[in-house]
Amino acid sequence: MDKIASFCIDHDKLVPGIYLSRIDGDVKTYDIRMRRPNTPPYLENAALHTLEHLFATFARNSEWKDHVIYFGPMGCRTGCYFLLKDMEEADAVRLIRSIFRQIAEYEGEIPGATAKECGNYLEHDLAGARKEAQDFLPIIEDWDERNLVYPA
Ligand SMILES: [Zn+2]
Repeated sequence: MDKIASFCIDHDKLVPGIYLSRIDGDVKTYDIRMRRPNTPPYLENAALHTLEHLFATFARNSEWKDHVIYFGPMGCRTGCYFLLKDMEEADAVRLIRSIFRQIAEYEGEIPGATAKECGNYLEHDLAGARKEAQDFLPIIEDWDERNLVYPA
């Protein structure tokens, strides 16, 4: 079988940040890398789960909602993928940063966190999600479209 593109990047050289993972037509996949690969501690699943609910909710309520295709965590628990269509890279980076700012200070109900709405509704950690966002924000504070290339 062919090795898929995301397995071809050198995970030894990857550090936390935002990267352009792939382009499929008018859809761009962003790698939101919150942990250095293979360097514990990994993202805790409950915090990552809440981060997923909040990020997806804020993205789909943003001015760019019509460009949002998908947001989801990586199984390795070192980050998330965010898919956007018809959107400039500079705008994508700004959107990601503004969503992390919203998560960092969010108080209230976790959206979609009832048994009817979620596959594991008890496994959530709002404080953990906020802390992850607060810790990631300084890393991406000055990030722009020129920083999106994976380290070679
Ligand atoms: Zn869920």
